Amino acid sequence: METTPSPLPHKVVAIDGPAASGKSTVARLLARRLGYVYVNTGAMYRAVTWLALRHGVAPSDAAAVGALLDATPFECGVAANESTLRVEGVDPAPFLNGPEITANVSAIAAIPHVREVLVARQREFVLRHDLVMEGRDIGTVVFPQTRLKAYIDASEEVRAARRSAQGIRDNLAHRDKLDSSRATAPLKVADGAVVIDSTFLTIEGVVDEVVQRLGL
Ligand code: C5P
Repeated sequence: METTPSPLPHKVVAIDGPAASGKSTVARLLARRLGYVYVNTGAMYRAVTWLALRHGVAPSDAAAVGALLDATPFECGVAANESTLRVEGVDPAPFLNGPEITANVSAIAAIPHVREVLVARQREFVLRHDLVMEGRDIGTVVFPQTRLKAYIDASEEVRAARRSAQGIRDNLAHRDKLDSSRATAPLKVADGAVVIDSTFLTIEGVVDEVVQRLGL
């Protein structure tokens, strides 16, 4: 049975949306504007992917990935108003956007135990900070009780063009399909979320629209 989520001790702006919708940049800028802490949950799923690949554990082996995560020191922190990670004592940030991680992260993120562990860690941030947290399930699963939810979308063409402009290889359509069709916490618009199409907007324009439509 679903338990009723408890009231939040700090404010949470939940930003969800598909890959390359611009939500990371929007969330970071919005957090700066509001003076909140920016939390990138995609980086956490990418860090587990990095860990599995580093240990030669197949992303398809859910039990082995879960056991590895349970046995690994996985520290989540905050520095300069942004979320940070240390996995086995290493900051994995420089490695997280490589093609091998990007190609495997959706398989790792579909493992229910991985989600359970990471969602618990994500919820800890709100004990101390006002947050702008971005991902795929922030408004639906991590903090369904927040009233401040935005879903950022953009056309597939524009999203693909943004990725290639960044020089990043990313099979967006495949990743979106996996993220939207998985059994646990699939990507979808949360109840009460404002939906913003960023296709024809600048990043600043999207931030302005989030601020205005959520009354921030
Ligand atoms: O946002 P980013 O592209 O870095 O996310 C990488 C992957 O992590 C997504 O494709 C998705 O599989 C997973 N993810 C997730 N839930 C989140 C954030 C990311 O499943 N809250």
